[in-house]
Amino acid sequence: MMEERLITSLRQPEDLAAEMLRPTRLAEYIGQDKVRENLAVFIRAALSRGEALDHVLLFGPPGLGKTTLAGIVAAELGVNMRTTAGPAIERPGDLAALLTALEERDVLFIDEIHRLSRTAEEVLYAAMEDNCLDIMIGKGPSARSIRLSLSPFTLIGATTRAGMLSSPLRDRFGVNCRLEFYPPEDLARIVRRTARILRLPLTEEGAEEIACRSRGTPRVANRLLKRIRDYALDWGRAEVDRATAAEALERLDVDRRGFDYLDQKVLRAIMEKFDGGPVGLETLAAMAGEEADTLEDVVEPFLLQQGFIMRTPRGRVATTEAYRYFGLEAPGREEARRDEARAPGLFDENGSV
Ligand code: ADP
Repeated sequence: MMEERLITSLRQPEDLAAEMLRPTRLAEYIGQDKVRENLAVFIRAALSRGEALDHVLLFGPPGLGKTTLAGIVAAELGVNMRTTAGPAIERPGDLAALLTALEERDVLFIDEIHRLSRTAEEVLYAAMEDNCLDIMIGKGPSARSIRLSLSPFTLIGATTRAGMLSSPLRDRFGVNCRLEFYPPEDLARIVRRTARILRLPLTEEGAEEIACRSRGTPRVANRLLKRIRDYALDWGRAEVDRATAAEALERLDVDRRGFDYLDQKVLRAIMEKFDGGPVGLETLAAMAGEEADTLEDVVEPFLLQQGFIMRTPRGRVATTEAYRYFGLEAPGREEARRDEARAPGLFDENGSV
């Protein structure tokens, strides 16, 4: 189940204590160079013009640093940030209350913006485009609409699925930033930074070992580091070196590619129960006893990025790489080999066709 999944990149209660690990300025934000450099330019331009920064959409799988980046943008702009999430806004009035409370050039951060209700979304259109709010007062024939003007502000929306945003909403973001999984070098820098904050002695190799097994995700890297710290303490190790990290990760059932039981369960199901696929997401979710959304947001993106599964119009398919990793024979290979043996070969003795 999700709660027990150690390397989940979804936020867990314990992560609240992780607030102190969040970088607060752009210069401290590791990796995502393109996004960082672009944002730096737009922030400088907005500051020099004395205007609010254009609305920003951040998208990418959970735990890659969208919330962190939103906070950083507000800090670099020198303004306040108000935070909410799509599902938390029940009525358009909730959104109106948030918008009217914003001061000039403030940031409003809406996490999971793809889960905003249609009516709340419509309130946002005019707010984003014309800095105004249309409010209906009264009911029936005497109802009328009044227009309130808002201070110029910056909306930062975060989503794991840009594709689920309606196009009128998507079009109103002037800046689009796609966050990618972090390469191991960047994750190693992130865990070294975290270890410094936690005052935990961590060797270069120890950091590399954790980095390679963190599913490309800073939230996972930080969480694994904390658990490894517990083992190190228990085992009386003075520092976290490669062997300590590897041993602890073994205990935590995180394999050498960073796959945990859920990744393995999904991959094995596709290969062993569905003959390599294609298999639909819902079927796979039922098989793994997980929500289809969790599979799509958390599990699948990393497996896709690692080249272990492919998405086809008919469902998910396991790749040869996945079969190789688990030491299984890919379906069809046997046949292919038999065919090869039967066919006299396309090449003649001179090697030409
Ligand atoms: P998201 O909003 O995308 O789910 P968060 O912004 O909450 O992700 O990031 C999760 C954690 O990972 C943060 O607490 C932060 O400590 C760490 N983190 C994320 N991105 C970076 C980064 N680029 N550099 C350093 N730490 C990071």
